[in-house]
Amino acid sequence: MGELRQVADGVRVRQSDWVWSNSIVVRVEDGLVLIDPGIDGSELSRLADDVDQLGLPVICGFATHPHWDHLLWHPRFGDVPRYATPAAAHLATLARERARAMAAESASGIPLDLIAQVTPLMADGGRVPGELIEHQAHAVGHAAVLLADRGVLLAGDMLSDVLIPLLDVRQNGQLEAYEAALDRLGEAAQHVDVVVPGHGAVAEGAEVAARLAADRAYIDALRRGEEPVDARLGAACGLALRPPPVERGAGGPRAVGAGDRGRVRCGAVRPCAARRTAYAHAANGRRQGHAGSRRRAEVAARCPICLRAPCVLAAAVTFGRHPAYERT
Ligand SMILES: [Zn+2]
Ligand SMILES: [Zn+2]
Repeated sequence: MGELRQVADGVRVRQSDWVWSNSIVVRVEDGLVLIDPGIDGSELSRLADDVDQLGLPVICGFATHPHWDHLLWHPRFGDVPRYATPAAAHLATLARERARAMAAESASGIPLDLIAQVTPLMADGGRVPGELIEHQAHAVGHAAVLLADRGVLLAGDMLSDVLIPLLDVRQNGQLEAYEAALDRLGEAAQHVDVVVPGHGAVAEGAEVAARLAADRAYIDALRRGEEPVDARLGAACGLALRPPPVERGAGGPRAVGAGDRGRVRCGAVRPCAARRTAYAHAANGRRQGHAGSRRRAEVAARCPICLRAPCVLAAAVTFGRHPAYERT
C-alpha cells in the first residue's frame, strides 16, 4: 500500500494493493471526512495511523456506491455517521450480508461487522463536502463528489485508467445511464485539475480529459454495436488468457482449479483487476447484444482461473468472486 499522499489542498489519497483502490481523506472545517476507506484490515489500520497524525477528528464517512469494496470501515475511525445516497444506502443495507461474505473472501482482516453500516445522506449533503453528482451508472445510487474549491473530482468507480466502464447487470438502460453520467462528470471536470477514481491512478491536468474520452469511446463503441478498442482492455485480455496459476506444495506443482475454494482469492493480487476488466468487457458485450471478436469470445469462453467454459457471471466477477467457487 502506498503512502497517504496530498493531491490537492486538504485532499489526500492512499492506494491499496487490492485492485488499486483509493481511500480518500478530505479535510473540512471541523475535521476529516473519509471516503471509500479500504481495503485490507492492515491497510485500514495504517490509514487510521495516518489520520491520527493529522491530528483532526473523523467527523463522518461517505461511500460512493453500494459495492462492498466501498463500504468498509475500521473501529479506529470512530463511531461516526457513515453516509451514502439514499438509494445506495437502501441497497447496501439490503445486501449487507452478501457484502460481508464477499469481503471475507476477497481480503483479510476487514472488520466484517462494520461493513455497509451506512445511512442515507440528507438532501442538503450534510457534512459531506462539495457537490454530489448522483447517477445510476455502474451501481444504484452512485455518487461522484465535486470539490470545486479544491479543484478535485472524486469519481467513484468511473474514469479509471485500469478498469473499463463496468455496467450494472442489475439495472436496465446502462448505456443511457453511463452516457448521462459521463456528460455530468464532463461538466464537473471543467472545474477541476485532479480526478480521483475509485481504482487506479489519480489523473491530473490533460489526463482528466483523456479519462473522460476513454470511457466515452468505450460506451460509444458499445452503442454502435462495435468492439471497443481500449488500452485497458488490451492489457486485460493478455493477462486473462494466461494459463492458470500454479501452486508449489509438498505434492509438487499443480494447477489451481475450481476445487480450491477459498485458496485462490480473486481480487487479492494485481492481475485480478485485469480479469475483472476482461470479464466485465465480455459481459458488457453480451448485455448489449453485439457480435464479439474472436478474442473476446475466447475470454468469455475460457476462465483464466480454472479454464472451464463458460464461467462468466458479470456481477460475481465484477465484485471479485469467482463463479466456479460458488458451485463447488
Ligand atoms: Zn463498484
Ligand atoms: Zn470499486
